[in-house]
Amino acid sequence: MQKLKKIYEGKTKILYETDSPGHLIQYFKDDTTCFNAEKKGFIERKGIMNNKISAKIFGFLESHGVRTHFERVVSDREMLIRKVEMFPLEVIIRNRAAGSMCRALNLEEGRKLECSVLEYTYKCDRLKDPLINEYHIRALKIASDEEVEVMKDYAFLINNLLTKFFVRLNVELIDFKLEFGKRKGKILLADEISPDTCRLWEVGTEERLDKDRFRQDLGKVEEAYQEVLTRVSR
Ligand code: UDP
Repeated sequence: MQKLKKIYEGKTKILYETDSPGHLIQYFKDDTTCFNAEKKGFIERKGIMNNKISAKIFGFLESHGVRTHFERVVSDREMLIRKVEMFPLEVIIRNRAAGSMCRALNLEEGRKLECSVLEYTYKCDRLKDPLINEYHIRALKIASDEEVEVMKDYAFLINNLLTKFFVRLNVELIDFKLEFGKRKGKILLADEISPDTCRLWEVGTEERLDKDRFRQDLGKVEEAYQEVLTRVSR
């Protein structure tokens, strides 16, 4: 598969066309942003680690019936993906309170929740990805009701699968963000799943093994990503 011209560059990834019209190459950068890009930096080798972690997780999810855009890893920082039409949505699942949920509702970080919480945000940098609900999605025709049901079912299925996947690695899945796309009428999980998009706490110590080490200046950021890579590669 030959890499052709760049078609999109985001904050942490670049997409290239390939000589196959149905496929793209997704390149992972070391650039890191948080709080809607108000804080920027680099995490050494992050692109390499997130490429490998995402590949591992997409492979695991595929083997449990989740359709994803992932085809195969093609280099240290690149994976071959199926081209999809992205929904401008982030689907977030929270198993314990953290991050923006704590700020919005004045909750203690790590507070246990009676049930998992699903949130949607509308992907728009200028508006700082505002929180929306299913009525906004319907009213603004962001996705059809059927598509929302598929994404929601996938999100809870992925939560069950990944919670069990990480517990075996002595890691608790606190929350995570998903993005979906459409290809030939089917909904596929897209983007990435990595310590950039999940909160991962070590069971017992509650040591942060994710981007919160960067967000909160906790140090040992690269080491935390490496630890996740080592564990998912077991
Ligand atoms: N998240 C993400 N991209 C975003 C916003 C959130 O991957 O643009 C992930 C984040 O890493 C966390 C979950 O979604 O695992 C919930 O994030 P939250 O809304 O708490 O974000 P914060 O404001 O703390 O960055």
